[in-house]
Amino acid sequence: MYCRTVDIAIIGGGPAGLAAALAAREAGVQDVLILERDLKLGGILNQCIHNGFGLHTFKEELTGPEYAARFADRVIAEGIEYKLGTMVVDLSKDKVITAMNREDGMFTIKAKAVILAMGCRERPRGALGIPGFRPAGIFSAGTAQRFVNIEGIMPGREVVILGSGDIGLIMARRMTLEGAKVKLVAELMPYSGGLKRNIVQCLNDYGIPLKLSHTVVDIKGKERVEGVTVAQVDSKNKPIPGTEEFYACDTLLLSCGLIPENELSMGAGVEMSPITGGAVVDNTLETSIPGVYACGNVLHVHDLVDYVSEEAGNAGRSAAKYVQNGEEPARGTERGSIAVKTGKGVRYTVPSKVCAETVEKDVLVRFRVDNVYRDVKLGIFFDGELLRSVKKRTVAPGEMEELRIRKEEFEKFPNAETITIGFVD
Ligand SMILES: Cc1cc2nc3c(=O)[nH]c(=O)nc-3n(C[C@H](O)[C@H](O)[C@H](O)COP(=O)(O)OP(=O)(O)OC[C@H]3O[C@@H](n4cnc5c(N)ncnc54)[C@H](O)[C@@H]3O)c2cc1C
Repeated sequence: MYCRTVDIAIIGGGPAGLAAALAAREAGVQDVLILERDLKLGGILNQCIHNGFGLHTFKEELTGPEYAARFADRVIAEGIEYKLGTMVVDLSKDKVITAMNREDGMFTIKAKAVILAMGCRERPRGALGIPGFRPAGIFSAGTAQRFVNIEGIMPGREVVILGSGDIGLIMARRMTLEGAKVKLVAELMPYSGGLKRNIVQCLNDYGIPLKLSHTVVDIKGKERVEGVTVAQVDSKNKPIPGTEEFYACDTLLLSCGLIPENELSMGAGVEMSPITGGAVVDNTLETSIPGVYACGNVLHVHDLVDYVSEEAGNAGRSAAKYVQNGEEPARGTERGSIAVKTGKGVRYTVPSKVCAETVEKDVLVRFRVDNVYRDVKLGIFFDGELLRSVKKRTVAPGEMEELRIRKEEFEKFPNAETITIGFVD
C-alpha cells in the first residue's frame, strides 16, 4: 500500500470540491488533490439536465452539466490533480485519508488540510416507514432522474410522487415531458419543501396537483406497484381515518429529504450538528478538527448550487491559509469565538461560531426557518441586543435565508459572546 503527502486533499469532485480546489489554487497552494468516486467530475449536477443553474454565479441560465463543466474545465486548465473512480473509505483525525481505485489499489494520503465535499444522498424508503410490500416501481426521485437523464430508461408511466422537495418537483415535470402521467405530488408537511419557482414551473405549468398535509399510507402490488393510498394527516402528521384516496399507478417516486454524506466525517470524530446532519463549523468553515473544512451539501443541504460554489470558495481559501500559516488554525478558544445561536423561528445557522479576528470583510450566515411565516422581521442580535433587522414578506423552510454581518459591526461589540439570528418581536 503506497502512501503520499499532499497540501490539500479534497474529498468529492462535485461543485463544492471543484470550487474549493480552484479557490485554494488561486490563494497560492499548488499541491491540491481531488478524490472523486465517480468516473466524471461534476457530482450530482451531471444528471440535472434542466436549466436554471448559475443565475447568481454567471448571470445566465445553464443546465447542471454546463454549470459543472464551467468549474471542471477550469480545474483541468489549472492543472489541478484529480483522481476519478477513487473511493475514500476512511479519514483519520490526523488527516490521513485511505482510498482505493483500480490503478493504485488501496492507498493512503497524509494531507496538511482536508476539505470535506462529499455531497448528500436521498432519504430511502426504508427510512420512511410506509407499510406495504416491496414491489418494483419505487424509486428515489434522484435515481429516477439518473435513469431518465443518463441511462435513457423510463422508470414508469403512471406516477405518484411523495414529497415536494426540489428533486421531486423537477422530476414531476421531467416525467411529464417524457410522456408519463404524474397523478399527484403528496407532501406530509403543510408547506412544500421545494422552491416556489419550482412549484410554479414544474407543477402549476403542467397542471400537476400538489396535496399538502398528505402522505402515502399504503402501497398496493406485490411484484410491481399497482397503486398507492394517500391520506390527509393531522397537525401531528398522523393519517386522518376516512380521508384515504386510492391512486392507480405503476411508480412511486420519493423526494423526502436529503442526508449529508458524513460517514467519513463522523469516523474522523468531527463534531456534528444534529439539526443539519453536517459538521459544526466556524466562519472559516473549519470543523472541530483543525485543518479539516466542510462545504456544500455535506455541510448542509443547499437549494441552489450557486450558493454551494460560493461557500466552497470560502473553504478553499481557508484551507490554503491554514497550510500557508504552517498548519495553524485560524480560530482558537483562547482568542475567543462567538457562538451563533438560533432565535425565534430559526432552525439552524451555518456557521455556528465566528472567530471575530478572522473576519476580513463580512460573515455570511445562512439559515432556515422552522415554518412558513409572513410579514416578519429577521434580526441579528449581539448578546441579546438588536444590531439590525430586515423585513421579509414570506419565509419558508424550503428557501434558505442569509444575512451578512460586516466587520465593522463586529467591532461595535468587541466582547460579544453570542450572536442570535431570529425574528424580532
Ligand atoms: C438528485 C439531486 C438533484 C438535484 N437537483 C438540483 C437542481 O435541479 N438544482 C440545484 O440548484 N440543485 C440541485 N441539487 C442540489 C445540487 O446538486 C447541489 O446544490 C450541488 O450538487 C451540491 O454540490 P456538492 O459538491 O456539495 O455535492 P455533489 O454534487 O453531490 O458532489 C459530491 C461528490 O462527492 C463524491 N463523493 C461522495 N463520497 C465520496 C467518497 N467517499 N469518496 C470519493 N468521492 C465521494 C460524489 O461522488 C459526488 O461527486 C440536486 C441534488 C440532488 C441530490
